[in-house]
Amino acid sequence: MPHPITQITAEKMFAIQRLFIATSLVTTFISGTVLADTQVDPKTALKMLNAQQQQFERQIVKVTDNVFTAVGYHGANTSMIVGTDGVIIIDTLFGPSSATEAYEDLRKHSSKPVKAIVYTHSHGDHIGGAQAFVGEEPPEIYATDNFGIAEGINEVADPVKMKRNIRQFGRKLSPVYQTNRGVAPAVTKDGDRGKGFLPPTVKISSEGLQTVIAGVPIEFHVGPGETNDAMYIWLPNEKVLFAGDNFYSSFPNLYAIRGTAYRDVLKWSESVGKMAELNPEYLVPGHTMPIRDASTAVAALSNYSEAIRSVYDQTVRGINAGKGPDQLAHEVKLPEHLSNEPYLIEFYGSVPHAVRAIYAGLLGWFDGNPTTLSPLAPKIKARKMADLAGGTQKLTQQMQTALATEDYQWALELSDHVKWLDDADRELARKVKIAALRGLAAREYNAPNRNYYLSYANELESDQLSEIWF
Ligand SMILES: [Zn+2]
Repeated sequence: MPHPITQITAEKMFAIQRLFIATSLVTTFISGTVLADTQVDPKTALKMLNAQQQQFERQIVKVTDNVFTAVGYHGANTSMIVGTDGVIIIDTLFGPSSATEAYEDLRKHSSKPVKAIVYTHSHGDHIGGAQAFVGEEPPEIYATDNFGIAEGINEVADPVKMKRNIRQFGRKLSPVYQTNRGVAPAVTKDGDRGKGFLPPTVKISSEGLQTVIAGVPIEFHVGPGETNDAMYIWLPNEKVLFAGDNFYSSFPNLYAIRGTAYRDVLKWSESVGKMAELNPEYLVPGHTMPIRDASTAVAALSNYSEAIRSVYDQTVRGINAGKGPDQLAHEVKLPEHLSNEPYLIEFYGSVPHAVRAIYAGLLGWFDGNPTTLSPLAPKIKARKMADLAGGTQKLTQQMQTALATEDYQWALELSDHVKWLDDADRELARKVKIAALRGLAAREYNAPNRNYYLSYANELESDQLSEIWF
C-alpha cells in the first residue's frame, strides 16, 4: 500500500498562522520592558513554534502526479521526479540513514532506477545521503561549478563554529527545552553526517543548463542565495520549481549566528525575483512544506525577494545617513504589507541580525564612530560602570533588580560588567546570567536565538565554559 500522502496544504497552514500573527505580534512591552521583535509572552512563543512545527512533520507530499517530496525525514527536504524510464532525486539529506528512510517511502511511488541526483547547494543537510539513492547504475550528479564554497574555505575558526552550531540548533538540549530549529525538527539523526556524499559529476556553469533526463525536460538555473553555490531547478512542463534554500517558510537566514561568511543578500533577493518570474504553479522549498497553488507560490517568491531587498536597502540608506549597526538593528523593519506573511515570520532568520551582517559585509567591524576606534577594555569599563552606579554592591543590586523585573536583556548586560569585578560576587553574576538567558528564551520564537540562549545557559550552569565566560 502506498505511503499515506498528506492532505494538509501549505496554504491552510498559512491561513492558521496568519490568524496567530494578527493576535500575537502586537505585544512589544512586558512589565515596562522594551522587547526585541521576536519576543512575545511565553505561551504565545510556544504556540507559534508549535504551529510552525507543522511545516516539517514527517510525510511524503505528492506535489504533482510525478513529483514527490519527503518532508521531515531530516532537517531538509528530498524530492523525487518520476520520468519515463527513471527518476531524478533533488537533494539527499544529511547522511545515509535519514536518506534511506526517505528513499524507502519515496520508492512506494516509483521503483524506476535513479538516473540523476541534483544538489541545490553544498550545505551538509542536502548532500550527505546521496549514496542511499544509488542502485546498480551510477547516476549523474549535478551541481554548480563552484560547488563547495558555501562556507568559505577558511577553517581556522572551526573549533568555535562547531560550538556555536550546537547552540544554534539546540543539539544538546534535553527534550524539556526542545522546540524546533525554525525550518527543521528539533531532533535529527546526525551520527552519519556526510557519510553518503558523492562528488558531482556534471558541473553547471553560470549560464545554466536545459536538458532532458529520464524523459523529463529540466532546467538548472544558477542562483546565488543562502549560499554562493546555489541553483534552483525548474520543470517547465509541470511548472514545478525546486528552490533549494533560497526559499523556505520563514524570514531567510541572511546571517547564521553559528558564524558564517557574508551571504550576498542582494544576489539572494535577485535570484528569488528571477524564480518568481518563472511563474511556478508548485514551489518545493529546501525546507518546510511545498506550496501547491500558483498564486500563493508566485506571491511568496516575489514578497520574499522584496523583503530581502527592503532590509538591504533600508540598511544601506541608514549606513549612508551615518547610522551605526546598533541603531539600525533596531530601526530596520519589514515593510508593513509583508510583516504578516507567514513565510516571512522570523522563525529562522532575523531582521536585526541581517542588518548587522549587511553592515559588516559592506564595511567591516568599524561603525564610523571614533569612540569605537579604541574602546575601553571590558574590565576597566566594568570598574567605571560600578563607580558610576555608586559601587560594586549598587551595580550588583541593579543587576538583581533587572532580573526581578524581568528586564532580562539589561540583566544580561549588567551581569557582563559584574563578572569582571574582583570585588564582586561573580557567582551571583553567573546565576543572574543563566536566569536571564532562560527568561529571554521563554519569550523567544526565533528558534536559533531561543536555542542559543538555552544552550548557553546550560553550559554556564554545568561549568563547561572557561573562567572568563561572557
Ligand atoms: Zn538546508
